[in-house]
Amino acid sequence: MNTAGKPVLTGGCQCGAVRFALSAAPVKVSICHCRMCQKAAGAPFASFAEIDNGDFTWTRGKPSAFRSSSLAERDFCPSCGTPLSFRRLDGPRIEIMVGAFDRPDRLVPTRQYGTESRLGWVVAIANLPSQTTLQNYGPDKLGGIVSHQHPDHD
Ligand SMILES: [Zn+2]
Ligand SMILES: [Zn+2]
Repeated sequence: MNTAGKPVLTGGCQCGAVRFALSAAPVKVSICHCRMCQKAAGAPFASFAEIDNGDFTWTRGKPSAFRSSSLAERDFCPSCGTPLSFRRLDGPRIEIMVGAFDRPDRLVPTRQYGTESRLGWVVAIANLPSQTTLQNYGPDKLGGIVSHQHPDHD
């Protein structure tokens, strides 16, 4: 928490069983295209906000961990499976996946890694034909969907 006792940033998994809070801004935000991050995220690449351990707290629930290598573990929600972090064993920081934050727009990457595995089409996605969710589903269908996702706040 900061001096006002209010977290700087919060977030959690899709179901809300695991929540976290930051008492200071992340040290660095980056993207990783490496094959292990692709698998762990189930996505073409992963993006991480790196936070000093002393500025980070799990505020609800506890994640499960998979030791993805001799170097690190990756945390995920045991209830809904949302990937949450990358942690070097006994390292001074935790890296939280940007999409898990309540305000992912505030985490802007400044570096990318693992580019040997970067998928060739990633750089061109801004040029693909685009629709909002409302345009894609239409108001009737979208209005009838009941979300089971935890809201973007505690
Ligand atoms: Zn969950
Ligand atoms: Zn990686």
